[in-house]
Amino acid sequence: MSNTCNCAHLPEIFGLDETASVFEHLEMLAEKEGGVRSIHRCRVCGRHWQLAYWDIINRRLAIRIDQPQEWSDFDDKSIRMTFLVNSRGGLSEEKCTWPECKSFSLSGILYCAFHATE
Ligand SMILES: [Zn+2]
Ligand SMILES: [Zn+2]
Repeated sequence: MSNTCNCAHLPEIFGLDETASVFEHLEMLAEKEGGVRSIHRCRVCGRHWQLAYWDIINRRLAIRIDQPQEWSDFDDKSIRMTFLVNSRGGLSEEKCTWPECKSFSLSGILYCAFHATE
C-alpha cells in the first residue's frame, strides 16, 4: 500500500474493472438502495467517490462526489447518460427499442441513453 493516490488524475466518472487497484485507499462510509450504491472516502486526499455496479457496461462505475453531505439525494442519472453516450462513441442509426420511444439508440446498445439508464 502506497502513501499516494491517483484520485487527482482520474476523470469525474469512469468504468472500473474488478482488478483495478486505483482505490486501494478507499474506506466505505455508507450505502444506499440496498448496497447498490456506496460512497467511499480516500484516506490520502479526502476525495469522495461513489461506486456502483452497472450492468449496461458490465463493470463498476466510479463517480466523484464533490458534495458528500448531499450524497443521499444525489441522482447520478444525467452524468451516467453523458458517460454512456461518450463511452459508446455516440449514437447508432437504429431507433431505441423501448415502446413508443423515437430517440436513436446508442451504438452497441438497443436503447437510447435515457432508457439505457432507466
Ligand atoms: Zn485520493
Ligand atoms: Zn428510448
